[in-house]
Amino acid sequence: MDAPARDRTLIGSEDGTLEPFKRPTREEAMEAVRTLIAWAGDDPRREGVIDTPKRVVDAYGEWFEGYKLDPSKELSRTFEDVQGYDDIVMLREIEVESHCEHHMAPFLGKAYVAYMPTNRVVGISKLAKVVEIFARRLQTQETMTQQIADAITDSLRPAGVAVLIDAAHQCMTTRGVHHRHVSTITTQFTGVFKTDATLRQRFLDFVNR
Ligand SMILES: [Zn+2]
Repeated sequence: MDAPARDRTLIGSEDGTLEPFKRPTREEAMEAVRTLIAWAGDDPRREGVIDTPKRVVDAYGEWFEGYKLDPSKELSRTFEDVQGYDDIVMLREIEVESHCEHHMAPFLGKAYVAYMPTNRVVGISKLAKVVEIFARRLQTQETMTQQIADAITDSLRPAGVAVLIDAAHQCMTTRGVHHRHVSTITTQFTGVFKTDATLRQRFLDFVNR
């Protein structure tokens, strides 16, 4: 069943704990970018940056497209005829392009997603799409890892889910501590991936293949 369409002019926390507020207009968003250009120390009227607010707002439309998309919708079309297949279904090296919610800086990496089907499977490309939808929001890597596992659990009711994300955060590599080669690994294991160490190890072996 489809969730009721959210009023796109209003923004609020999904769980309703915060009052909704009005989404700014495109012009207001562009004005905010002009303010940030000036804050950086440049003149927003300078020729080279005169069209930058428009480009940034357009880029935001792509980078944060995930707020408009519903992961459960992607996973709603499942297939029951799997000819007795009863082993891991796994996607390796799904591109992760997200932005940290603390600095709005990109974090880039790969996601590995697996589930152990019971009687339902989903089109494999849909798993990658779910990762993309959550990535195209302001995120922490920990939250995103959990959200991917939860979405698959809710939709497919599998025997277990395993998610691993390995990503480099530009707020760490290009500023602050400047740790160029640090990457962050987060994992989430549920069901049989949590209880069966051998299965979990198989997943990790596939990750490291
Ligand atoms: Zn950050």
